[in-house]
Amino acid sequence: MTHLTPDLPARSGGEYSMLRKTNAGGRIAQNGARRRRLRQLEVSMSETELSGGCQCGAVRYEITQAPRDVHFCHCRMCQRASGNVFAALAPVRKTALRWLAEEPAEFASSTVARRSFCRHCGTPISFAYNESEWTCLTLGSFDDPEQVPPTIEYGVESRLSYIHPREQCAQKETGNGYLANMINQQA
Ligand SMILES: [Zn+2]
Ligand SMILES: [Zn+2]
Repeated sequence: MTHLTPDLPARSGGEYSMLRKTNAGGRIAQNGARRRRLRQLEVSMSETELSGGCQCGAVRYEITQAPRDVHFCHCRMCQRASGNVFAALAPVRKTALRWLAEEPAEFASSTVARRSFCRHCGTPISFAYNESEWTCLTLGSFDDPEQVPPTIEYGVESRLSYIHPREQCAQKETGNGYLANMINQQA
């Protein structure tokens, strides 16, 4: 059983700053702790544009970074975990994700990754490799999924026959060395 490929940002570790609005005039001249303080303030007051949550409202989140490599994943594990014919996921750094109410519950779908969901209503919220700095939020849980259009389709070798490729998305198979020793813990 395969899963997301290692060329996700989750595996790249590259620095990626995508705050959608920056108050450059107020930040350029700042240094050190003061700059960090100001930046935190800016983030909390104006730079966070993307938010989401579960269907019952117990789980709410906001992110301070625009997602990178938003994707559909057609792998069998994502199908099972989402209860749907593919998963739609938006990777962000874990440090850019802030829970606003309850944190979701988690299920270790394999020995290398966890998937979170609302413990009250069951809405799938995220997928993340245990050792990654990135987590992937479900597109449907965003308050405005139009803001996070997919650019990649992973796991295309497992795509169901009645789901057609999207021309605007790169098409990538999964299955690689990183996951060779993974133990699938899904039923
Ligand atoms: Zn809920
Ligand atoms: Zn997958």
